[in-house]
Amino acid sequence: MSIPFSPDRFWQSLEEMARIGATPDGGVRRLALSAEDDRARVLLRDWALAAGCTLAVDRLGSMYLTYAGADPDAAPVAVGSHLDSVPTGGKYDGPYGVLLGLEIVRALHEAGLRTRAPITVVNWTNEEGSRFSPSMSASGAAMGVLDEAEVLAAPDNFDPAFTYADALQAIGWAGTADPAIARRFSAYYEAHIEQGPILEREGIPIGIVTHCIGVEQWTVIVTGRDGHVGSPMEGRQDALAAASELVLALERIATRLGGMATATRLTLQPDARGNIPSLVRFAANIRHPDADGNGRMAAAFHEAVAELTARRGVRVEVERAGGYPRVPFAPNLLDSLRRAAAAAQLRHRDMPGPIPQDALHLGLVVPSALMFIPCHGGVSHHPSESISREWCAAGLAAMGPAVIEAAGGLA
Ligand SMILES: [Zn+2]
Repeated sequence: MSIPFSPDRFWQSLEEMARIGATPDGGVRRLALSAEDDRARVLLRDWALAAGCTLAVDRLGSMYLTYAGADPDAAPVAVGSHLDSVPTGGKYDGPYGVLLGLEIVRALHEAGLRTRAPITVVNWTNEEGSRFSPSMSASGAAMGVLDEAEVLAAPDNFDPAFTYADALQAIGWAGTADPAIARRFSAYYEAHIEQGPILEREGIPIGIVTHCIGVEQWTVIVTGRDGHVGSPMEGRQDALAAASELVLALERIATRLGGMATATRLTLQPDARGNIPSLVRFAANIRHPDADGNGRMAAAFHEAVAELTARRGVRVEVERAGGYPRVPFAPNLLDSLRRAAAAAQLRHRDMPGPIPQDALHLGLVVPSALMFIPCHGGVSHHPSESISREWCAAGLAAMGPAVIEAAGGLA
């Protein structure tokens, strides 16, 4: 029996959700646990309750909307993503995955159907990490990767007197469920816009994400010697000139080894027109699709550092500031997406996931799958982020049947 998934209802729901926190430039500003996030949560809750779901909210505010299965003892299959956005975000990064899950349960409910196992639509709190660091903190704590108390104590990056816990209380979404309930999912599916140009360029509507690639984050501190900007060039230890070489080395290494590397957050001391900077600090992150890629990029960077320090006489410290492990996704769930895509006559390709998503945390504990649809120009985290109705429908056509199958099929 085919299930009457409605691509039109899915699209309309995305449009309606995008009106919450809409900005004049066509984007969305819906920071985690803000008044806009509250309105988005209420809308999702009301839609899901109308589709026969029950709601649980965990202590970190993540929402679990469950459509009961025929077997009350079966562990739920979860489908989710996030409704929060970055300050200048778009309409689809996050809501696409949540509302795809909603459309699955709506279609079942409308047709009076049930799967054997329950299906739980999840809205993870604070995926973006714009308001509370780190990103993906609720899913991380749910999987036991991050400490729940530390997540709750995270200060608001825009108003440090206020914490995650304060914001959660303020909008009334502090629940009582143990976030660890999510570790009991039998499977987790997440659909997301690609946030890159590959699928659109190749004319392929479905990306099967084989793994989230590992990310290494560093703080780099370059120490030289200050002095007057009018002093001779010879014998200087200009920390900014040295740091600039390292920034370019990162770019060169990434390009040469087929990875990605970026320097950000550069600060200098002294920061004055008349002084040679003696201390420069910057953040760097590297990522590579191959299992040993980050190691090779790190080795190349340390070589560049050694050469530079010898030549310029500066001191360079590279401290690890965090990162994410490389997380492979569950082969059988990825296969279920490939089969469903093929059955719907949708082209698909395997690809790595260069940007961490909640599925990365889930994938550490629960069999998980991440699937991409294209976005125009690869643009995301920007008001102009956009997808076509065809891509929107393609994702539903691939993931809908895969989730039903993972939930044991129709009862
Ligand atoms: Zn996202």
